[in-house]
This record gives sequence, C-alpha cells and structure tokens, in this order.
Amino acid sequence: MRKLVLCGLLVPFVFLGQTPKIIVGIVVDQMCYDYLYRFQHHFSTDGFNRFLTSGVNCRNTNYNYVPTYTGPGHASIYTGTTPYNHGIVANEWYDRTQAKGVNCVFDPSVQAVGNSSSGYGQVSPHHLETMTITDQLKFTYPSSKVFSISIKDRSAALPGGHLSDGSYWFDYSSGKFITSTFYMNQLPSWVQTFNEQKNADSYLADWELLNDPSSYSRRIDNSPYEVTIKGAKTPTFPYAFTSFARGNYSQFTITPFANTLLTDFALELIQREGLGKNDATDMLCMSYSTPDIVGHAFGPYSLEIEDIYARLDLELAKLFNTLDKQVGKHNYVVFLTADHAVVPVPQQLTDEKLPGGYFDMSACLTSINTQLQKKYGSILIQSEENQNIYLDYPLIDSLKLNRSVIQQEVASILRSFPEVKVAVTGSDLERGIIQDPWMQMILNGYSKERSGDVIFILKPGYLAISSNASSEHKGTSHGSAFNYDTHVPLLWYGNRMKHQEIFRPLEITDISATLVHMLKLQRIGSMTGKPIVEILGH
Ligand code: ZN
Ligand code: ZN
Repeated sequence: MRKLVLCGLLVPFVFLGQTPKIIVGIVVDQMCYDYLYRFQHHFSTDGFNRFLTSGVNCRNTNYNYVPTYTGPGHASIYTGTTPYNHGIVANEWYDRTQAKGVNCVFDPSVQAVGNSSSGYGQVSPHHLETMTITDQLKFTYPSSKVFSISIKDRSAALPGGHLSDGSYWFDYSSGKFITSTFYMNQLPSWVQTFNEQKNADSYLADWELLNDPSSYSRRIDNSPYEVTIKGAKTPTFPYAFTSFARGNYSQFTITPFANTLLTDFALELIQREGLGKNDATDMLCMSYSTPDIVGHAFGPYSLEIEDIYARLDLELAKLFNTLDKQVGKHNYVVFLTADHAVVPVPQQLTDEKLPGGYFDMSACLTSINTQLQKKYGSILIQSEENQNIYLDYPLIDSLKLNRSVIQQEVASILRSFPEVKVAVTGSDLERGIIQDPWMQMILNGYSKERSGDVIFILKPGYLAISSNASSEHKGTSHGSAFNYDTHVPLLWYGNRMKHQEIFRPLEITDISATLVHMLKLQRIGSMTGKPIVEILGH
C-alpha cells in the first residue's frame, strides 16, 4: 500500500522533471552557422552564449531540399518534413488553375483582424498539407497553448499551424501586430493595448554601432556590395532613421528595433497568456525577420549584419532572463535555428577571383522562347518562378504536342547554359530518375501540383537576377541547394539538458522529430525527420 502511494506521488514528479512547461522555438531569418563564431566576441553571457556554453550545439545541421526560402524553411522546421510532403514549395509559386502566382500564406477566404486595410491580413496556413508539431501538440492536449509571432506573415502562420491560439505578424501599413479571421474575430485586449503603447513609432531610433568600431571584424563600412537604403546617402553608419523612416513601417523592418519590438511582444505574450503555467506543455514560436532584410541589403560580410547579431544577442538574453524568472530555470526548452543561410554577394566572389556570378533569367527565358518559337511556331512557356519553368498545357495540347517531349527539350536548352548545374523534368522526378544528390534535394522540394515542369539549379556562387543592371550586383539572396544556404545553427537549451556538441550530420526536419519524443507525441502524418537522440537521453 505504502509503495503504491509512493508511486502515485512519484509519477507526476518524474513527468514534470522531463517534460518542459514551455517550449520556445526561435527562428532567425537568414542566419549562417559561422555567425555563432564570427560574431561571438560581441555576445553577452546570457544570449547566444547560453546555448554555446550550457546547451546543445548541433554543429552540422543542413537543409535537405531546394529551394531554401523562408516559407519552406519555417514549414520544414515545424512539420519535420520537406516541401515534397508539406507542400510549401516556395514563398510564391505559379498556380496553374488560377493562372497566376500565389503566396504561400495568402488566403482570400479570411480577413485581416486588427487593421482596416486587408492588404497584409488575408493570411492562414491553409496551403500546408500536413500537420505541424504545434498542431500535433494542441490536437493531442487541447489545454496546451500554442502561439506564433513574427514580423513576416508566413513566418508566423506556418509555425503556428492550423490550431494556433494566436498567430500574429507585423502590419506594414500600420506598424502594429495583426492576425486574421482564420484564428479569431478580434485581437485580444492585451494585443490592442500593446499596439497602442508599443509600436513601430515608439521603437524607431537612429542606428549606430552597438560596440567600439575597432571591435568589428569588418572595418570597411562603405563597400560596393551594399545597397543604399532609401533616405540614406551611403550604406554607412549612423543611419538617421528618425529623420527619414518615420511613418515608413516597411523601412522599420530593416532596423534592429524591429527585433526589439518582437522580443517585447513575446515577453508580453508569455505573461498575458500565462504560458508555462499550465499542466500541459505550451509552445511559443517566434521568428526574427530583420536579419534577413538586413542580410539581403548588405550581405553576410557587412558591418550592418555584424551589428544586427550583436544586438540580437541582447534580445535573446532578455528572453532567457525573463523565462528564468517567470517559468523557472529548469522548466523550459528553447531551440534556435534559421530558415536558411545566404550566399556571399556574388560580385564580391568574382572580384576576389572566387567561383560564382550572376545568371540573367530574362535573357535565358528569351533564348528558350526563341528556340521553341522557331521549332513549334509558339512560345510554349506560361511562367517561371524560383527556377521552375511552367509549360502552357492548354496551348501544348491544342497544338497536339507531347508535354514530356517539350519538357525534355526545355531541360536540354537549360543544360546548354554554362551556369546551369542540373536541369530535371517533373516527369523524371516522379518516375524516380535521380542521378545525383542535387536531384534528390530537388525532389525533396517538389510538389506535383505546385512545382514547374522543368526545375534547374545553378552552379555554386551564382544568383539568378532579373536583369543585368548594376543595381542587381549589390546585396545578395538565398534559395540554393549549396552549403552556404543550407548550413544553419541548431541550438538547444534548458530543462536539464546535458551540455554537448553534436557533429554528426543532422537535417532541419530532425527538429520536430525530436520535439515529438520530448513531448511524447505520435509522429506526425508525413514526418520524415529523425529524433536527435543525444538531446533526449539524460
Ligand atoms: Zn527567410
Ligand atoms: Zn531572404
């Protein structure tokens, strides 16, 4: 009898010791793995260093599909599978039935909540074809609370999944956090109050270097590889945002103060929604978009990106210290990763005699169209998105041409460009004709409804640009299958986790597969990731 009583007492204790009260998932939009080390001398003890000195550092984590964009990245982190299964093949893809491009989170059946213009609010995760880890948690344990927040709409809507208690993103027209009727019909009163008191207007300031200029690894501020943002004369510090960006909420998102706004919104949310106070585990997904916006404009080797990370570190420290106080040091788990990394500015690569360059997409399409026109008397291409070529089926069918013959023809024209590494047809992918690891990554990112007829990738270091204007040779982007885009940080901290570094190769889909076991849930529908057992063992 006495033993039974003891067991009865012990079981909930053990349960609490192993299952965190709250999981906070942090995605940093466009973060390269090496930033952890290149910028570490700027970091405080409680920001990135919490993970690096006391947590788990998965040092060899990569994306396992192409294209490496924001929508697919967030969907893959939170579903534990690739676009082949979750369906988010890009930020925007060509929709054959509507004959136009569609955004991965645009949903015309819902309305904005929290602003009068609907432009930034018709958003939901309705294009996701599988459940997220947040869905699985909420569906299994309805008393769990699940929230997601970001500056970008897709970075909030995809992580929060279909059952989110609240997914909020930044409204570029009002500078406030909004949501859509997919989730609720009215903003909670605490969000309304937050928006009134703490919004883009109240956070905007001038941007100066956080630390002594001599402590930065890059010394050249005015490089030819940086975009000059509207209102500034040169791409140099200090940026007098208060004089030229006031009321311009789109421009606010390139300032480090957008990161601070997001952190403060998260802290308010944790408190107001009582996260971590439940008997079931709660989950908060947050995504910092500003590093991506800064990275596109200035590139990974700029003073601007270095300063953004020096400042982001302070945001993380603020978050950790609040979780310690409000939830308790051993009661939470935080993980941090990125939705993709980024390629160095290709112009800098070529100037420094490194492999890379630009691929003029419009010239390429003109060449394909000319050759098809000459042979068939018609341009048989309907659209190009994200290096996917969509054929014009009605036209091909009316001319009684064979679709797969045209696919092969387009693929072989693409292969004749020296910058093209691989071109493969959708039919070949579906038939399982995979000749190399890059084709496997294309297949992992492929959807028979949403992808094109011919998909191609460029050689490493190349970016596709829409014209050969010199402005296109400033700033950079991502989306490729190569390591500069796929190798991202994956850090864990909390709940008595053993400090360790893991060097074996991990895939981005392993994050949710690990969370499944941490939360003792059923694996999700089409989940393909594998649990990181080193983290789960005690
Ligand atoms: Zn992104
Ligand atoms: Zn980006």
